[in-house]
Amino acid sequence: MTEQELKDYLASSGAFLEGHFLLSSGLHSPNYVQCALALKNPAWAGRMGDALAKAWQGPKPELILSPAMGGLIIGHEVARAFGVDFVFTERENNVMTLRRGFLLPQGAKLIIVEDVFTTGKSTLETAEVVKAAGGEVLGAMSVINRMGAKTLPFPSVSLLKLGLTAMPPETCMLCRTGLPVVKPGSRKF
Ligand SMILES: [Zn+2]
Repeated sequence: MTEQELKDYLASSGAFLEGHFLLSSGLHSPNYVQCALALKNPAWAGRMGDALAKAWQGPKPELILSPAMGGLIIGHEVARAFGVDFVFTERENNVMTLRRGFLLPQGAKLIIVEDVFTTGKSTLETAEVVKAAGGEVLGAMSVINRMGAKTLPFPSVSLLKLGLTAMPPETCMLCRTGLPVVKPGSRKF
């Protein structure tokens, strides 16, 4: 899969939107990525999982772990590509936790998989869960990386890097043009 192929697919699936968006951080952005729309197609989700596994240069993981909800589908597909199991963390009272009887074998080497790296916060929280459970984080993966110059404290791979273009409303050029700001995901289909 070439980067252009992926970009074209993200646009045609409606996952990559251009316009004037209000992000959950309160910043305004000329683009928005709703990865769930790209991952709704199982064949494409599988291709992305394969591409991530192929791009990984480190040792083979023993387990793939994703934070719910965003990482569930792509994490599962990466696990399929590596031929290993997939487990997930979720927030309970806002604290990232392993539930549902998921246990990490002592010393298990795993990769954390997300749909989008935005601030890196959920990846770091998931890494803390791994450490507390006695596992080892080999690295992290995502379909899209929007972290800009920020990096994670372990090796990471993404299929597509998007520049950080978000800005506070006070300095937003799009607000000055009078284009209405849209909160992504607020429209029900
Ligand atoms: Zn704006």
